[in-house]
Amino acid sequence: MYQTLVEALEWASSQLHKISDTPKLDAEVILLHIIHQQRGYLYTWPDERLTSDQVTAFGEMVARRLLGTPIAHIVGEREFWSLPFMVNPTTLIPRPDTEILVETALNLPLADSARVLDLGTGTGAIALSLAYEKPEWQITAVDKIIEAVALAKANRAHLKLPQVEIVQSDWFDSVACYDFNLIVSNPPYIDETDEHLSQGDVRFEPQSALTAGEEGFADLYHIASCARDYLAPGGYLLLEHGYQQAIQLRKKMIELGYENVATVRDFGSNDRCTLGRWPR
Ligand code: GLN
Repeated sequence: MYQTLVEALEWASSQLHKISDTPKLDAEVILLHIIHQQRGYLYTWPDERLTSDQVTAFGEMVARRLLGTPIAHIVGEREFWSLPFMVNPTTLIPRPDTEILVETALNLPLADSARVLDLGTGTGAIALSLAYEKPEWQITAVDKIIEAVALAKANRAHLKLPQVEIVQSDWFDSVACYDFNLIVSNPPYIDETDEHLSQGDVRFEPQSALTAGEEGFADLYHIASCARDYLAPGGYLLLEHGYQQAIQLRKKMIELGYENVATVRDFGSNDRCTLGRWPR
């Protein structure tokens, strides 16, 4: 058995390598969550002993990870845009890939008081990160899942960003503003038959946040089509999509009348977001 921090890490890593590509990191994240410390602590005090409650809690969390449960669900939190977001199984765990969408949005030439809409906000990661960087932007975030709305509101409170409006809406259904300067979304875009859906963390995330019909394009097309009625002249639409969906989505957005349609790559060099401007 293990008694010290370093022993706990060694034991957990030796178990977790069976199911995870990052066993040491997983073990560290779980252990830090239990001892309420930052990473450096493990290396400064490797021989500190765990209490018996901590040993029990650590063993239980490692056991959940061995069953495949995502680390973010075990510790209830995931960092995005260097901000801590509470997560739960009712919606998508924020992905580092999506930070490129936030960065692209922040680089747009928008007014200080720009009106912004985030569709399918989930944890609120995109909307709240934008609000953190641009406190004057008038941001509305919607999600159709009531539990996701509650989670986004909890993150709003935790991050102290009360200016963000969060409402339940199935895409645009309950949106009553027609002059957004920017509409962003990370909608479900994975094809329903994609084999990756039966592997790794996505098994624990809701299908409603991951998959869409028409080979993953159904929601992207629906949003691109409807957004034309909700954008101010000269407003931008910015959508996250799969790495193989850029060409087809650009074609669709051009057909729908968007101008300056362009794709941005994520930090892994994959096509990740496509942007278009509604004509003036
Ligand atoms: N990029 C995510 C994945 O591959 C999917 C996110 C989404 O469907 N919006 O798991």
